[in-house]
Amino acid sequence: MTIAYFSAEFGLDESLPIYSGGLGILAGDHVKAANDIGISLMGVGVLYRRGYFQQRIHHDGSQEALYPVMDPNRLPVKPVLNDWGDPLFVGVPVGNRTVFLKVWCAEVGKAKVYLMDSDIDRNSEADRRLTDRLYGGDQNTRICHEIILGIGGVRVLRALGVEPDVWHMNEGHVAFLTLERIREYSAQGIPFDTALEAVRANTVFTTHTPVPAGHDVFSFELLDRYLSDYYWQLGEERAKILGLGRIGEDQFNMTRLAIRTSSRVNGVSKLHAQVSKELFHQWTPQIPAQDIPVTAITNGIHTGTWAAPEMKELFTRFLSPDWESQVADPQIWNRIEDIPDQELWDAHIRAKQRMIERLGLPISQNELTIGFARRFATYKRAALLFADPERLDRIVNHPNYPVCIIYAGKAHPNDYPGQDLIRTIKQVSLMERFKNRIFLVENYDIKIASHLVQGVDVWLNTPLKPMEASGTSGMKAAVNGVLNCSVLDGWWSEAFNGRNGWGIEGAMSGSREERDQADREAVYRLLEEEISPLYYDWDDSGISPGWIAKVKESIRSLAPVYNTNRMVAEYRENFYQPLAERGRKLLANRMEAAARVAAYKRFIRRNWQHVEVQSVELSGPMVQAVIHLGPVWNKDVRVEAVGSNGYGGLWKQQLDYAYEIGRGIHLFQAVYGGTAEEWIRSNANVRVFPVSPEFADDFEMELVAWGRK
Ligand SMILES: *Cc1c(COP(=O)(O)O)cnc(C)c1O
Repeated sequence: MTIAYFSAEFGLDESLPIYSGGLGILAGDHVKAANDIGISLMGVGVLYRRGYFQQRIHHDGSQEALYPVMDPNRLPVKPVLNDWGDPLFVGVPVGNRTVFLKVWCAEVGKAKVYLMDSDIDRNSEADRRLTDRLYGGDQNTRICHEIILGIGGVRVLRALGVEPDVWHMNEGHVAFLTLERIREYSAQGIPFDTALEAVRANTVFTTHTPVPAGHDVFSFELLDRYLSDYYWQLGEERAKILGLGRIGEDQFNMTRLAIRTSSRVNGVSKLHAQVSKELFHQWTPQIPAQDIPVTAITNGIHTGTWAAPEMKELFTRFLSPDWESQVADPQIWNRIEDIPDQELWDAHIRAKQRMIERLGLPISQNELTIGFARRFATYKRAALLFADPERLDRIVNHPNYPVCIIYAGKAHPNDYPGQDLIRTIKQVSLMERFKNRIFLVENYDIKIASHLVQGVDVWLNTPLKPMEASGTSGMKAAVNGVLNCSVLDGWWSEAFNGRNGWGIEGAMSGSREERDQADREAVYRLLEEEISPLYYDWDDSGISPGWIAKVKESIRSLAPVYNTNRMVAEYRENFYQPLAERGRKLLANRMEAAARVAAYKRFIRRNWQHVEVQSVELSGPMVQAVIHLGPVWNKDVRVEAVGSNGYGGLWKQQLDYAYEIGRGIHLFQAVYGGTAEEWIRSNANVRVFPVSPEFADDFEMELVAWGRK
């Protein structure tokens, strides 16, 4: 089984700066874990020749973005050669021209990541600059990147003779890959609808952001500018192709395209999956949010990459010599209790000393040190603690319990509010009373991140709930014996157990100012009343037994779960294996099953206008519904009574087919346990929707007819 994993970013190593934040780091860790657990996986991305920017922060707090040119010969990538030993090129359609891409390969053990680069002689000067910067340029550059990623990526795999069993889209940026695959089938004479079923059968989509603005939207006009000469190659008319991603009148949403062309969609934490259902519900209002098929596979980290050498040494000695390959086994992590407190603390202090030294911080290893580092997206609220400087002053300059806070992060060059956060932090760090207490470290990247997650004592995270899809830096901190203090958002909402760190409920109602105020108060209070006193509760040997107990509980409960080996294994069991199987089934015998599904859907779609819930009645213990199906067969639909369960969920009762009342009109019924009042109170109704044993999920046609209310 071979998996193609497409991503706009890959954070594999600090020497290859083609990532901007969590999305890329996750992709890099995904590839590493796939290699570890023996899944054959190929990454596909872009070699941005100037990468993501390097950050300088000036004395006034302004951020400067530097884009040094990288020499690929000095990067950990090799040119990919064709059968004749020459460098491999592929072409992609961009408007009325072809842009050629050179192909590079980064090797991660047995896994390979193929990276495309347009900076070659054959291209015009403008096209050579196309792949310079990750998330650089305007919407034009953006769509070109996505054409390169999606369409170019498929062509790279084909040039290498690869036929993946499953295609994994890491975020919607790469979703054009599904169009390219339809085009390939079309070129073999396969009709569009059949090709779409075949593509959908073995495609997986992971969505990454609950922030609506985080989803790429292009105008139809922009798509026409770049792809008008491409539509016809897909064997369908423009309107139908654009319809795959259409939202509103004339906007094309890449997330919508990704959903329409996948058999499985997942969010990156349990909470994020719920939030994504709500978000996607707007596009299919006829389907309750609870029924939108988004599952959760919570993110993880590649533990071997992020754990400090001192920690790894302890894990090897006390857990298992082979702990890296058993990292997802909770049993071995129970042995964390066997590590003497002193040894665990010494290991942490060594990592802390290294951080202090490498970052050149004028602080002592004995001081409680808090880290806050991530992209400076505004929802992460980096400046939350500054609203009450007096109180912050009392906390960090406490006579017995001194505290330092280290901040780091980049703001996207177009994100001015994000850059204002940097300015604020810089200014605060320069204030007399916060000198040597509050620090802003430049150029947050994998290297700085490693130092921080290994060397601080507490990892602070204050997102505006529920905007943090998962968050992974706290997971890196956890395996290093660093305690999380975080809003219960993303991964932490499912990981916090009351003993493995600190959780802040996270206000979800009220004005923005009220919410900030509530969460800020919670952090201050935790720092004053719990975190500082516990940290400084030293015994004779200078360690806090209570603190170490929390550290051990944190490692024990978090390390076996929030790692990418567990995560990739979940993708394998829930997505890769079943979809590889589904792909084989739909493609067998020259796409017999895909053609059948497409024909069935065509029939249903053409006749759905006749389907109607004509009446619903409670009679005695029965609920009865009269349904007009017209030419649709009664076995092709499911009829359900659906109501609210009062806890944000739904109750459902399937109605069985009884008999045909008149031509095309049928009675469906079931025993309903409740009373008429309960029926009304739960806002119950009856719905009918098309089903097929050959569908990947119940609502994949997005057709539902509801009874009148
Ligand atoms: C881990 C990591 C991130 C992601 O951190 P979040 O907590 O998910 O925001 C971003 N940037 C770098 C350099 C990282 O190492």
